Amino acid sequence: MHDSRFAGWLLDSVRSGLVAIDASGAIAALNAAGHRVLGCAGEASAALIGRDCRDVLAAQPAVAQRLLEALDGIERPSRAELVLAAGADRPGPTIGYTVSPVRTPEGGIAGAVLQFRDLTPYERNAEQGRLRERLAALGEMAAGLAHEIRNPLAGMEILTGLLRRRLAGHDEELALVNELTAELRRVAQTVTDSLEFVRPVALRRESVDPVEVLEESLARARSRVPFDVDVRRDYAETVPALRADGERIEGVLTNLIVNAFEAMHGAGSEPARVSLGVRVDACEGIEIGPELVFTVADTGPGIPEDLRERVFYPFFTTKQRGSGIGLAQAQKIVDGHGGRLELECDPGHGATFRVRLPLAGPEAA
Ligand code: ADP
Repeated sequence: MHDSRFAGWLLDSVRSGLVAIDASGAIAALNAAGHRVLGCAGEASAALIGRDCRDVLAAQPAVAQRLLEALDGIERPSRAELVLAAGADRPGPTIGYTVSPVRTPEGGIAGAVLQFRDLTPYERNAEQGRLRERLAALGEMAAGLAHEIRNPLAGMEILTGLLRRRLAGHDEELALVNELTAELRRVAQTVTDSLEFVRPVALRRESVDPVEVLEESLARARSRVPFDVDVRRDYAETVPALRADGERIEGVLTNLIVNAFEAMHGAGSEPARVSLGVRVDACEGIEIGPELVFTVADTGPGIPEDLRERVFYPFFTTKQRGSGIGLAQAQKIVDGHGGRLELECDPGHGATFRVRLPLAGPEAA
């Protein structure tokens, strides 16, 4: 026998959002995905049926407006897009929607229905794809140069060895040759880094404890800088295990923390402090699935708007002795995990890097 609740289950089971109003502008249907994405003030869907759509959708007036327009017979092209109003802690998602009047067999208008999909995951993929291509092209170019430099460099290292032997006893000249050797080693390291960068990363995934990984990264970062920085921890009480290449993620976080330490050393007017965080973001309302989020925030000078993409390019550095490979490599490793590396900057108030890694789904397997 047909279960009368079937229609409700059906609506809640489809992954697209759906919201409908009757001819008076009152909510007639709102499925689970619609409720989640449109953020209806935390009230259950059932309690919203029959209420004026302008009240229920007060946080998303553009959606209410599209529905009411459809009552007047105003049709929009199918697959229109709309940027929803932002939530408290994240920018509003972009939705692709279709709105249509609900017509009676006699041709009258009994209401309006708006169905939509959250386009955020597709936008993110496209954005990530563009950056991936750019990084790959830059990496290839650098690797090409590195190959050219490698042979003469090896020759120079042999020659400085010979020179050093011939200069035994001439301390002043020896000191100069030693300086030369140190510089040559630096170039050799850059060459190695750039060749390493274009090699595909093979990840060895295992179950790792995110807090342990973060603590180990902090210890490694501390051993790499010759000064001390105040560190604040903001860890969620329970953090699930993560399937990831622990060693690589530790490398990524160590690099972010060293960068944060270095950014604050001798700069910034606020007290120098690095905040480390780890938590789960349920990504509600966005068709992504739960993510584990590591945060590394500093109170340094931040990163100017026009450099926010370039800092991820290989060999982009503003440090005298920097290699510029750290963030590019980090981006590649996070990308390999199906995650994202985000940068948020409030000019003059430091930089916040977020490593977001999927907790479930095929890419996390
Ligand atoms: P490197 O540290 O060798 O320069 P990275 O790729 O790690 O290489 O960083 C590239 C550049 O990004 C840095 O030289 C710096 O200009 C900028 N940067 C990275 N992290 C921060 C930060 N926390 N605050 C300010 N600038 C940063």
